[in-house]
Amino acid sequence: MLSGVALHEEDCFPLARSLESICRRHLPSEPGIEIHASPMWSGRSEWARIPTAKRHALLGELFRHLGTWTSASGRAPRYFAVAVHKDSHRGRDILELAHEEIFARFDTCLTRFHLSGDSHRSLVIADESSYEKLVQTLVPKWKTTGSRIGKLNSLVEVPLYVDSKNSRLVQASDLVAWATFQYYEHKNPRFIQTINARFDCDGGIQHGLAHLNRSHRTCQCVACASHRTLVVASTVPVF
Ligand SMILES: [Zn+2]
Repeated sequence: MLSGVALHEEDCFPLARSLESICRRHLPSEPGIEIHASPMWSGRSEWARIPTAKRHALLGELFRHLGTWTSASGRAPRYFAVAVHKDSHRGRDILELAHEEIFARFDTCLTRFHLSGDSHRSLVIADESSYEKLVQTLVPKWKTTGSRIGKLNSLVEVPLYVDSKNSRLVQASDLVAWATFQYYEHKNPRFIQTINARFDCDGGIQHGLAHLNRSHRTCQCVACASHRTLVVASTVPVF
């Protein structure tokens, strides 16, 4: 499961600060504790010492925040996530496929902005514990020879890697990944429902949420269905 949070440069600090203030309000005695949905939900590692009700209340508010926050000028973040059905892609490098897909979809979003007269260059910042070496070699290749979907035009640099502990925005992306994982692996739409309207979308097609599987033409998940109905369901269906 790969994910991303796309923000205008002016919105990075305000969103990070708002996430920080939610964490401080819920857990004033735990400054700097890392938002990491899986251990928050199950009470593992550093979250083991936090009572269940507090962990779940914070997680719920963070998801509501990611589903509703807008910048002072009215911009909303756009989310991206890729869920790969492994059996549909036997013989392919799943990690490479997922990275190629998420970068291409982000680039397509920026190209769409560009065509509407709103041009941006982009910088990708990722968790250093993810697949740094793989991506550092793939991105220059995509920029010159083109990925499966097309050349990546908007990136100004190879992705930069940070320790997720130091970035509330990278932690926000973890929430998007976990909500997507809950939906596709556990058929649990509860968390993705809160953020679903913010996956990149154009013409009713949910481009920002990619379910890579061979049955996509009949798949009833919210993303695959949007390609047929040209509308993103307001209630995320269990499929
Ligand atoms: Zn699907």
